[in-house]
Amino acid sequence: MPPSLLLGFAAAGFIVGSFLNVCIHRLPRRESVVWPGSRCASCGRTLAWYENIPVASWLVLRARCRTCGAPISPIYPLVETATAVVFAGGLAVYGPTPLLAVRLMFASALIVLFVIDLQHRILPNAITLPGAALGFLASWFLPPGWFSSLVGIAAGAGIPLAIAEAYRRVRGQEGLGMGDVKMLAMVGAFLGWPLMILTLVIASFAGSIAGLTLLASGKGTMQAALPFGTFLALGALVAAVAGRPILAWYLSFY
Ligand SMILES: [Zn+2]
Repeated sequence: MPPSLLLGFAAAGFIVGSFLNVCIHRLPRRESVVWPGSRCASCGRTLAWYENIPVASWLVLRARCRTCGAPISPIYPLVETATAVVFAGGLAVYGPTPLLAVRLMFASALIVLFVIDLQHRILPNAITLPGAALGFLASWFLPPGWFSSLVGIAAGAGIPLAIAEAYRRVRGQEGLGMGDVKMLAMVGAFLGWPLMILTLVIASFAGSIAGLTLLASGKGTMQAALPFGTFLALGALVAAVAGRPILAWYLSFY
C-alpha cells in the first residue's frame, strides 16, 4: 500500500471524524447535523474555520473556547484521531475496494454509537435503522451476502429480545434496551449472522470484565448499567477485522 494513499485516507478520516463529532453532539439533542455550522457548546458562538480544524484547533486553543473560556472536551480530538486510524487501518485491511467503502460507513456508525451510548446511555434510531438498511442493501453485492445479512438482522434483533425477556421474568427489571436490539440487528446486516454472534460474545465478555473490574474496585454495583452499545461497537470492530480468523481458530477445536 503506497504511504501517500494511507496518509490521504488518514486525512479523510480526520475530516469525517470532525463530522462524527457533530453527530455525537447533536443527535442526542435532536438537532440537525447539517445546519447550522459548528458552535461552542457552552456560549453558542459560531466557530471560525480555523477553530474547526480536526485535532490541530483543539491543541492550538489549548482545549478552551476563545470567547467564553469553557473547556472543550478531549472527546473531540480523540474521535477525530480514532476515525483517522480506522480509515487508514481499513485501507490496509480491505484495500481500495467497494467493501472498504461499506465497512468505513459501518465503522463511522460504530464510533458515533460508542460515544453516544457512553455519554447518554442511548443508541439513536437515526444511526441504527438507516445503518441496518444500508448494510442489507450492500450485502446484495458484497460480503456477507443477502441471506447471511437477513439472518443476521433477524437473529441480531431476536437474540437480545429473548435475553431481555428472560432477564425481565427472572429479575423483574430491564436488562437490555431496545437500542441494543436495533444496534445488533445493524451489526448482523453489515457482517452477517456468524460475525454478529461473535460480536455479541466479545461484547458480553468485555462488558463482564469491565463490570467485575468496577465491582472489585468498589466504583460500581451489580445494578449499575454499563453502556452495552459501547461494548457492542468494540466487539463489532474486532469481528469486522479479525472475525474470520477468530471463528476458524474456534472451530478448529471441533
Ligand atoms: Zn464558548
